[in-house]
Parts: sequence; structure tokens; C-alpha cells
Amino acid sequence: MSEYDTIIAGASFAGLIAADNIEGTVLLIDRKEIGTHQTSSCATFTSVLEGLGCRNTILQEFDTLILHIPEERKVELIEPISTFDYEKFCKTVAHRIKAKILKTSVKGVTGQTVITGSETFDSQCILDCTGWKAVLASSIKNDYVDRQKLSFGIESEVEHTDDSLHFFVDPKIIKQGAAWIFPIGNKSRIGLASYAGRTNILPELSEFLKTMSLDVEYIHGGYFPSCLREPAVGNIFMVGDSAGMAAPTTGEGIRYAVRYSRECARIVQSIIDGDKTLEHGLREYRDVVYRSKWGYDMLMNMQNRLLSNILPETIKKAAYSRVFSGLFQKMYLGI
Ligand SMILES: Cc1cc2nc3c(=O)[nH]c(=O)nc-3n(C[C@H](O)[C@H](O)[C@H](O)COP(=O)(O)OP(=O)(O)OC[C@H]3O[C@@H](n4cnc5c(N)ncnc54)[C@H](O)[C@@H]3O)c2cc1C
Repeated sequence: MSEYDTIIAGASFAGLIAADNIEGTVLLIDRKEIGTHQTSSCATFTSVLEGLGCRNTILQEFDTLILHIPEERKVELIEPISTFDYEKFCKTVAHRIKAKILKTSVKGVTGQTVITGSETFDSQCILDCTGWKAVLASSIKNDYVDRQKLSFGIESEVEHTDDSLHFFVDPKIIKQGAAWIFPIGNKSRIGLASYAGRTNILPELSEFLKTMSLDVEYIHGGYFPSCLREPAVGNIFMVGDSAGMAAPTTGEGIRYAVRYSRECARIVQSIIDGDKTLEHGLREYRDVVYRSKWGYDMLMNMQNRLLSNILPETIKKAAYSRVFSGLFQKMYLGI
């Protein structure tokens, strides 16, 4: 058994950025090679990528988003959004971090001990960044993940070029869901998601692609949470999708994983440095995350309306208006 200042389970957006911001002995564990098994469309504000020193990973940058809800309307973005290369992003961050990286599966936690398939590791500060399954938290609270509160999305990278991002809320494409076209230079990531967490959505994707004379190619995707969860479980800090931080309605999760992994790292650092107790740090982190709860509640409310296939005219009109869409993009949307 080895002891670390911090143990981080999961080395995607949340885990990597947390590791990048914590000094001391850090163990970063992922079951797969870093940067492999992309699930996301990987679109976020360019400023987020620049702030992480990852401008080099950008594939295409956009000043406009075309909303189809379902009428088509071009929205000028208040800040550019970029699609980026997942593998390059993860490797760029992984190369500069000082953490020890271990490829193995975490199984759970007992007290301050993280259990993997072969070994156990000890730390006062444990971060669960394992995505929607929240593997560590679920090992001590088996109802932590509410499977009714998961969305499910898939996408295919196909030969299609465009100058804009497109986001669709159109029951003719998918009921109780949304679709998107996110160009990446000489190709596009075209996908759709079910807010009801329905997984058999390949036929809808195939039909959607057919409308553009395209066929489904290699597919990736998966579940993403649609409800903010408890940010601290026992002595574990929950960050990113494990804490349900992907926004309802938009499914945007990268910016929140980055934001809260930095907040969490700041708090964990002060615990390591002896400026705070673990208990104090967990409480502070919970408070910091819950400050955004009203925004999640608002987007959840909108998603619930979409689940009932109701999008009131007032919301539609507001979404198309310059002021609202500017505010909306800045605060929540991002994609
Ligand atoms: C189809 C789709 C499209 C999306 N598009 C966008 C988008 O364009 N923009 C956006 O902002 N958000 C998007 N999202 C949401 C975004 O991808 C997530 O919010 C984001 O990936 C969350 O990051 P994370 O680090 O918390 O979790 P994840 O990216 O899910 O990473 C979890 C990590 O934990 C590891 N792990 C899991 N279990 C274990 C275990 N037992 N042991 C060790 N390691 C483990 C995994 O291998 C993985 O590396 C999309 C989601 C989907 C499904």
C-alpha cells in the first residue's frame, strides 16, 4: 500500500485538469490509455482551450451557431467556440503534469483507501473523476447515480464541411432530444442525444445523416448526466460528470469539468498545505458548486419541457433574440 497527497480516479477532462493544478504527490488513475476512447463532440469556448494552453488542439473555430428549434436562425456567438482534438488535448495536459499516472481500474473506496484491481492506495484527498458512473462514490453510496437522470448521445465523424455549428431541437429528427453538426475542418461530428436516456437512437442518426446524403461511419458516445449531484460524498470530492456537472438541455460538460476541477484543486492544495482540514475543504467545495445550482435548475426545467415535447414560444423567441442568446451562450450553452 502506498500513500499520496492526492489520488484522482479518472484521467479525462476533470481528472487531468485537477492533476495539472495540484502540487505534491499525486496519483492519477485511469482504466485506459490517456486520450483514447473519446465520447464527446469536443466543442467548447476557444477561451477555455487557450486558458489551458491547448490552442494547439483546435480543429475549427466558429463565430456563428445556427439554431434549428426547429426554425433556422443564425446566432452570432459572443465568444468563438472551437471543436478540438480529444487525444491531442489529453496528451498536451498529461505531458506537463507531474502526477504518477497508473493504468488500472478503480473498484471503490474504504475510508482513505482507494481499491484497484491489484493494489490499494491511501490518501486523505480523493477525487472521483470517473464520469457518469461515479465509480468511487457509488462504492459507498449505491444509489448515488440515479439512472433515470441520464441522457444518452452518439455521433459519427463523416465527410461533411460547414462554416457554422448547428444545434437542432426538432422532433422530426429525434423526439425528446437534440441533434448537432459540429464541423472539424475536413469532416464533421454529427450526432444526436436522447434526454430520456434512450440508447437505441442509431436509426434516428442514420435517418438524420441520410437527409444530408451521408452514411453512418465510426460511432462514439455514451451517457452523460442531466442532473447536478452531491459534490462531496463521504470524504470524496466529486468533479465533472461524476458530479452530474454536464448542463441539462445543452449537454455541455467540458467547461464545467474544467471550472470545478480547478476549484477543487485549489481547495485540495490548501488541505495538503495544512491551511484547512479535509472536512472544511469538502464543505467549501460543496458550497462553491452549489452556487451554480440555480443555473442547473433553470436548464433542467427547460429540458423537462423538451421531454414533454413542449418548447414555449416565449423561450423560442428569447433563444433567437440577440440579448438572450448572448447571455445564454455565455452562462450556459457553450455549444
Ligand atoms: C455524445 C456526446 C457529445 C458531447 N459533446 C460535448 C461537447 O461538444 N461539449 C461539451 O462541453 N460537452 C460535451 N459532452 C459532455 C462531455 O463529454 C462530458 O461532460 C465530459 O466528458 C466530462 O468529463 P469528465 O472528465 O468528468 O468525464 P469523462 O470524460 O467521462 O471521463 C471519465 C474518465 O474516467 C475513466 N474511468 C471510468 N471508470 C473508471 C474506472 N473504474 N477506473 C479508472 N478509470 C475510470 C474513463 O476511462 C475516463 O477517462 C458530450 C457528451 C456526449 C456523450
